[in-house]
Amino acid sequence: MKNILVIGGAGYIGSHVVKMLKTQGYKPVVYDNLSTGFKESIDKKIPFVKGDLADKTLLKKVFRKYKINAVMHFAAFAQVGESVKNPAKYYQNNLAKVLNLLDSMIENNIKYFVFSSTAATFGNPITKTISETHPQNPINPYGQSKLFVEKVLKDYDLAYGLKSTVLRYFNASGADESAKIGEAHKNETHLIPLVLQTALGKRKEIKIFGTDYPTPDGTCIRDYVHVNDLANAHILALKYMLKNNKSEDFNLGSSKGASVLEIIKKVQKITGKNFKVVKDKRRPGDPANLIASSKKAKKILNWKTTYSIDKIIKTAYQWELKRKY
Ligand code: UDP
Repeated sequence: MKNILVIGGAGYIGSHVVKMLKTQGYKPVVYDNLSTGFKESIDKKIPFVKGDLADKTLLKKVFRKYKINAVMHFAAFAQVGESVKNPAKYYQNNLAKVLNLLDSMIENNIKYFVFSSTAATFGNPITKTISETHPQNPINPYGQSKLFVEKVLKDYDLAYGLKSTVLRYFNASGADESAKIGEAHKNETHLIPLVLQTALGKRKEIKIFGTDYPTPDGTCIRDYVHVNDLANAHILALKYMLKNNKSEDFNLGSSKGASVLEIIKKVQKITGKNFKVVKDKRRPGDPANLIASSKKAKKILNWKTTYSIDKIIKTAYQWELKRKY
C-alpha cells in the first residue's frame, strides 16, 4: 500500500507531503493541473502527470498505470477573501471536481482518501480552542466548500466503503529547511509571506486587515502550524487509516495563537528590518480567533508539532531569500 496519488502535489502543502512520502519509502505520483502549482517544486525522479480532476479518463489511466492504493487531495483554492467575491470558483473546484474524483475512485475500486480540510469549516469559534466536535458553521464559501466534501465523505463511507481521513489545517506556514520548496502562490495573500516580502523590500507596505477585533491587540489571532509538521500528520494519518480501515477526522494546529501584530513584530525582529505597516479595514469572512485543539491527533496518531512560531518564520524567511520560483 505504498502507491499514493497526490492531487495538487505541485502546490505548497502538497509538495512538502510528496517530499516526505518519498523520504519515508512511499511511491508518490503527482497529479496537478499547474493552475496554481509549480513543476519546479517536484523532484524530477517523481512521476508527474499534468491533468485536471474533471478528466475521468486520465484519472482512470493513472490509477491503473501506477497501481494507486490511496489518494491525497490538495488541489483546492484556499483564499477566504476571494471565495467571498467569487464563490462559484470555489464550489466548482473545491466541491464539484472533488465529487468527480471520488466517483472515479469508487469506479476504480480505490478505497482510501486523505482530504485537506480547514479550520474555516468551523466559522466563529464558541470555545477557546477548536476540537473535532466543535459545531461547523462556516462564515465564508471557502469553508463551506470544504464542509460539503466532509459531509459527502461520511455518506460515501457508509454507502460505498470509501475510507477517508479529513485533516483540518489551521494556518499552514513555514518552508522545508532545504529552502528548495516553500510557500509559493502566484498571487500571494497569506500573512507571513507578505510580511517577509515587505521586509525584503519586494512590497512597499503590509496592511493589517482589522484592528478592532475582540482580541488583546485588536488584530486577528491564528494558529500557525509548520508545513512539515502537517506533512508528517498526513503520513501518520495514512498509516492509521490503512491499518484500521476506518474513517477519521483531525484538527491540526499548534494549539497556540499569534496575532497579526505579533507576526509583524516577530518578522521585524528575525529579519532585523523595519518596514511600513498600515492599518486597514477588516477583510470579509475573517473570524477573530482560530486556535486548534489537536488533542485527538496527539492521542490517536501520536502527532505533535515540532516548530515554534519563531522557527516557522525563520524557515519561511530562508525560503523567501533563496526561492527560485
Ligand atoms: N492578514 C492581514 N494582512 C494581509 C494578509 C492577511 O492582516 O496582508 C490577516 C488576515 O486578515 C487574517 C490573518 O492575517 O486575520 C491570516 O490570514 P491568511 O490569509 O494568512 O490566512 P487565513 O487565516 O485566511 O487562512
